[in-house]
Amino acid sequence: MFQDTIAAIATPRGAGGIAVIRVSGGAAFFIGAKIFRHKTKKYGSFADIPANTAVFGDITDKGKTIDSGVAVKFAAPASYTGEDTVEISCHGGIYIANAVLTAAINAGARLAGPGEFTKTAYLNGKISLTGAEAVGRLISAAGESGARLASAQSKGGLSRKIGAISDKIKDIISEVCVFIDYPGEDLSDMGTGAMLEKLRPLQTELEDLKASYGIGKIVADGLDCAIIGKPNAGKSTLLNMLSRGDVAIVHDTPGTTRDIVWSKINIGGFTLNLYDTAGIRAPGGEIERAGIEKALAKTGECALIIGVFDVSADFDGDDGGILEILRKEKDNGKKIIAVFNKCDKYASAREIPQTPFPALVISARDNAVFNSAVSACDAFGECLEAIYNLGGHDLDSGEILTEERQYFEICAASENIDAAASALENGFTQDTAGLDLELAVKNLDRCDSKSVSEDIVGRIFKNFCIGK
Ligand code: GDP
Repeated sequence: MFQDTIAAIATPRGAGGIAVIRVSGGAAFFIGAKIFRHKTKKYGSFADIPANTAVFGDITDKGKTIDSGVAVKFAAPASYTGEDTVEISCHGGIYIANAVLTAAINAGARLAGPGEFTKTAYLNGKISLTGAEAVGRLISAAGESGARLASAQSKGGLSRKIGAISDKIKDIISEVCVFIDYPGEDLSDMGTGAMLEKLRPLQTELEDLKASYGIGKIVADGLDCAIIGKPNAGKSTLLNMLSRGDVAIVHDTPGTTRDIVWSKINIGGFTLNLYDTAGIRAPGGEIERAGIEKALAKTGECALIIGVFDVSADFDGDDGGILEILRKEKDNGKKIIAVFNKCDKYASAREIPQTPFPALVISARDNAVFNSAVSACDAFGECLEAIYNLGGHDLDSGEILTEERQYFEICAASENIDAAASALENGFTQDTAGLDLELAVKNLDRCDSKSVSEDIVGRIFKNFCIGK
């Protein structure tokens, strides 16, 4: 077995048009030659096939033909992993794909671990650490914004941003060194004031990057959102409207929803994990009480809460209780949207109470907004956009933090720069401040370079699927 040559099925398991088996490593072409008999007359042996050229042929295992398909060679370093790579497309399906993978293993490859192709790409300098993390995000992206951001990051957007900040700090360090080593030579005008001047914009850049984590997490992971309200307000109807499907049971019997019903939706550029909860009111039976407890617990866990009110009925104590929950959650830093539902019955409705939250007056049943041609789904998307201001962030630049690991490294670098600035402000010398700058460079490099420990690299790639 060639320990350095790995193989895996790169396409999802299951029946499909084609499956791709990827083989990467020093023996990839040798293994390709053993398991693939091309039928293109102009090439002699497998070795004669040029890189990046697709050839049709038979796929064999120990000499026996198991399928026909297409092989492409990628020569190091111009491949995803940076190593010699062969990708064989065979007929889709669990049996055939496994048979081709087995053929590659029988020919000497070993089974790749989760994310090992991308890990190899990272170790070979083909992709930055933040880029590799973004590849994982790209594969699991459920919505457009998440995919756009991950794509920009995988192309090095975040990596370049961090690198640029690190370079600016290194420039300051080198100027400080010159000044200290040759004070009389007039090589640098790096006095305390000048150094502080140079640190200020770096502090701002790092603060902005830190702040980007808030939106990055939302874009990458989606938002957990609880729908709460008294029974019959139209919570399940709202969930179905936003999901554009029949996810939850809608019924005019109050208290239909007991367990939490979940749906993942994309709206206004956001991915939302929506949780429809039991109607909250002074409870009747034991089961209803259990449902309400679950609803309150879920509300506590979610970052966004939609409070639904029935605008066609009188505002009562149960509605007041919901408003109270929303107010409390707002004070806890949560985002709130009040939905005044059933506006199609509005002719006979009461006054809509003033709320300290963004509010929508809609008919969830009709996907309509009161007195407007905009659909309720679109209005909902616009409301989210206004609350989270996604438009204020350039997703396509990739300059947004999405991982907790990145966030902590940037926080550390930011603290180092702050420490350097306050050292100067308190009369310490530039070389003392320079020590903090060196630490900042180390922290930035750790965010995106090979100086991270094997443990962290292992943790990043263990969440990948096998074959990526
Ligand atoms: P939940 O208990 O809060 O989940 O409420 P449901 O979604 O089950 O709805 C309760 C009742 O209100 C059902 O009969 C729905 O058809 C009705 N309903 C929900 N939304 C609307 C709406 O926008 N307009 C009207 N007229 N009825 C609605």
